Amino acid sequence: MATYRELLARVRDEIEEIGSAEARERDSALFLDVREQNEWDEGVLPGAVHIPRGELEQRIEGLVPDRSREIVVYCAGGSRSAFATKSLAELGYENVVNLAGGFTDWKRNGYPVETPRSLSADQRARYSRHLLIPEVGEAGQQTLLSSRVLLIGAGGLGSPASLYLAAAGVGTLGIIDADVVDDSNLQRQIVHSTERLGEPKVASAKRTVEALNPDVEVKAYQERLTSENVERILADGWDVIVDGADNFPTRYLVNDASVWHDIPLVHGSIYRFEGQVTVFKPHEGPCYRCLFPTPPPPELAPSCAEGGVLGVLPGIIGSLQASEALKLLLGIGETLQGRLLMFDALATTVDEVSIRRDPSCPVCGESPTITEYVDYVQFCAGPRVAT
Ligand SMILES: [Zn+2]
Repeated sequence: MATYRELLARVRDEIEEIGSAEARERDSALFLDVREQNEWDEGVLPGAVHIPRGELEQRIEGLVPDRSREIVVYCAGGSRSAFATKSLAELGYENVVNLAGGFTDWKRNGYPVETPRSLSADQRARYSRHLLIPEVGEAGQQTLLSSRVLLIGAGGLGSPASLYLAAAGVGTLGIIDADVVDDSNLQRQIVHSTERLGEPKVASAKRTVEALNPDVEVKAYQERLTSENVERILADGWDVIVDGADNFPTRYLVNDASVWHDIPLVHGSIYRFEGQVTVFKPHEGPCYRCLFPTPPPPELAPSCAEGGVLGVLPGIIGSLQASEALKLLLGIGETLQGRLLMFDALATTVDEVSIRRDPSCPVCGESPTITEYVDYVQFCAGPRVAT
């Protein structure tokens, strides 16, 4: 039976070790910190990622799928990380070295350390189900908390989208809506409530969202998006736009702004029992005008016809929009870019069609013909389909 010292010595013989000076030269390596949370919170090597030793084997494949990746493992003094290095080699990681002397030696040499952003105890509890997913984890949660999503409309689509994005911890939500809460909204617009009748929708949404999650700041824009205010609102800086607009003029404005500002746009629309969702990622996939270069004549535009919507439908489509937005923010998974998803609530079917970028698109094409915002103001005289 080996003592701890003998076991450690044996493990060190089996792995490769480097000193702080050599580690500092390895710019392209991934520095993996295997210390405990309280040690990590005190300071880390710049750019390091964190998996406590006890969770290493379980979480490493999610964090580092590429087994040929160059990894420098460290702990406080180099012992725990020696065992971690051996364990990673046994898991098939081919290019792993231990930092001899660990964080203590690195710091003693006067090399740079940084204080990590870390979640509070409350946030750790609130987002625990995210922290358990390797694709999100603490780094992903930090990304969400520093992310900014602009929601067009606090109606049927904006309600579930804003609630789920807020619950997920997206730190800043912008909400644009000029309307007040009306009793015909409450059949589907779940961010509002009966006691809010007559209140501006953005104020009502802000109260609900901030009550759900105090980590979230809501920037309320009580106005209708127009060519006059679109640049001012976009100047506040957004990572993703979620379009829950109920009308064509706004949809075109949002599309053109998304292309010109290079902001991914999550599009959703609903009509009676049918909903559609897609992602327009500027210059990578199609934009809305690649599909519909200009608005249809009013008599053919479905959103100008009188029509209802099944109350739950925007809940489904708006939730899909929130899901796409979260993936865009986190840079994970396959988005709906280049795919139009169509949901039929009456038949309970989901269909998908490919959509392509149009080289002759008037906005994102090779020779754009539309270079300024267009207000299609007189476009729709009839009643709108409220989302
Ligand atoms: Zn286009």
